[in-house]
Amino acid sequence: MSVDDNTPVLRGCIKLPLPEDELLEVTAKAKDYAIMHGAAMRSKTNFSPDSLNFAPFVLVPSSFPRKEFEKAIALQPIINRLMHNVAHDEEFITTTLAETIKVDEFTANLFNIYRKALAHGFTQPISLGMLRSDLMLESRCRDMSMCSSSSSGGKDNDAKEKQEAKAKKTTKAYSVGLLRSDYLAHVYEGCAIKQVEINTIASSFGGIATHLVPMQKFVLQELGHSDKLQHMPKNEALSGLCDGMVKAWDIYAKPQSVILFIIEDVSYNICDQRFHEFYIRETYPHIKVLRRTLTDVHREGKLGQHKELLLNNTEVAVIYFRAGYEPGHYPSQGEWDARYLMETSLAIKCPSIHYHLAGTKKVQQALAQPAVLERFINDPEEIKAVGKIFTGLYSLDDNEAGNANYEMALQTPQNFVLKPQREGGGNNVYGLDIPDALKRMSRVERSAWILMDLIHPPLSQGYMVRPGGKMPPEIVDMVSELGIFGVVIGDADHIVHNYQAGHMLRTKLSTANEGGVAAGLGALDSPYLI
Ligand code: ADP
Ligand code: MG
Ligand code: MG
Repeated sequence: MSVDDNTPVLRGCIKLPLPEDELLEVTAKAKDYAIMHGAAMRSKTNFSPDSLNFAPFVLVPSSFPRKEFEKAIALQPIINRLMHNVAHDEEFITTTLAETIKVDEFTANLFNIYRKALAHGFTQPISLGMLRSDLMLESRCRDMSMCSSSSSGGKDNDAKEKQEAKAKKTTKAYSVGLLRSDYLAHVYEGCAIKQVEINTIASSFGGIATHLVPMQKFVLQELGHSDKLQHMPKNEALSGLCDGMVKAWDIYAKPQSVILFIIEDVSYNICDQRFHEFYIRETYPHIKVLRRTLTDVHREGKLGQHKELLLNNTEVAVIYFRAGYEPGHYPSQGEWDARYLMETSLAIKCPSIHYHLAGTKKVQQALAQPAVLERFINDPEEIKAVGKIFTGLYSLDDNEAGNANYEMALQTPQNFVLKPQREGGGNNVYGLDIPDALKRMSRVERSAWILMDLIHPPLSQGYMVRPGGKMPPEIVDMVSELGIFGVVIGDADHIVHNYQAGHMLRTKLSTANEGGVAAGLGALDSPYLI
């Protein structure tokens, strides 16, 4: 991540550092609170199905501008509808992915299932979308020509002073953040949310995020800041998402049918999944939940007379995929066959195959091209609002535009992130590593990737607490990524349910490119609205 002295720092919710004895005590309490309330995961390094570690967390909530948070919440139903419409646009999905599937075997396999399902007609017209729209704040002014540089020579002093005065004024006016240094190098226009990606499969952490808010509230209270709790927005991600599954189960309308979770061979993020399962079982005791791997479904699954999915004669109403988004989840043809079997069944899928494809990075890149949103959204105001959260996204297909983008990436790699069609973190190439990565690919291979403008989020400062980490923790510079959950249910012609369903915040060290919580660089957090 590129961070320099001019990166703004968001105003923290409490004054740091904490006195060491107080910090030690509250951190120890917070760790136990997290384990005891399920803000926890299975250890990857020391795995046992019989024990849990607390999930890495940020001790006090990180600041997030209220205006941008509320904007993200308000946009979610529009994004839900956008993705629903994209998923049902056969021509758009087919043309957009045409080059990519020539070289990306995984996406091609998914697309094959889509093609076969299309040829036979979709057995189940209804889809359940449980999306997570991920956003970061962009802190840099758009017009860099307005910016002076801290290394500029003496004759620019006058201009620089004016610039600094303007920047100070702007910062105050927006009161979103404070500049890190007194020596202002560029005009700070406030921060605006930008879309990192939209997830349409296995959008996780709704369960744990819901339980993290009370934990951070507890910490603030222990530190004597009860007055601050009102700045933490309520988060109903868990009930919102589970209610989505139950609404789909209601639509399926068979009292004996169950909800099936498709899981990995080993679930490290077990609490998040169990929270969903337990919420459903406790709130709707008549609905059973099963957990099966793709391999299990291959072994046990078959279609009934009316194409209903049967697992050892139990009928499945809703399939919730918490696995199936990466090649490793399909160790043999059997798992692909299981995915196809489920796709052709009467069960309502989350996601159905077209929703999965609509969530690829390639589709995200195509959506950000001029005038494309008009194909999916009618209201010009909505088009404008959604368009504003997009950053530059560029095709690397083997054509004139794609080749020009390739040259641009070689010339100014520091401005970009290079992304393949993968999910789950750890797959992207950043900044100065991009030229080497691109040069290793053939022209056609590049079309499996897209290029995206790097977002420069403001910093926040706080204590990141991780299992086995240093005690007491040290203050670190961090950046956050906000995820807004959305639920959308409908068929190609009608949307029957569409709502925003809570949020999650992931925070990582400002020096890390990616902040996967399970991967060990990120930590769970909640927004503190400023
Ligand atoms: P995945 O589907 O694997 O989660 P993402 O597109 O979300 O892929 O990228 C993974 C991580 O990389 C993000 O969580 C974020 O930390 C970082 N990242 C992705 N795109 C950008 C960007 N344009 N600018 C800055 N960081 C980014
Ligand atoms: Mg993703
Ligand atoms: Mg992501």
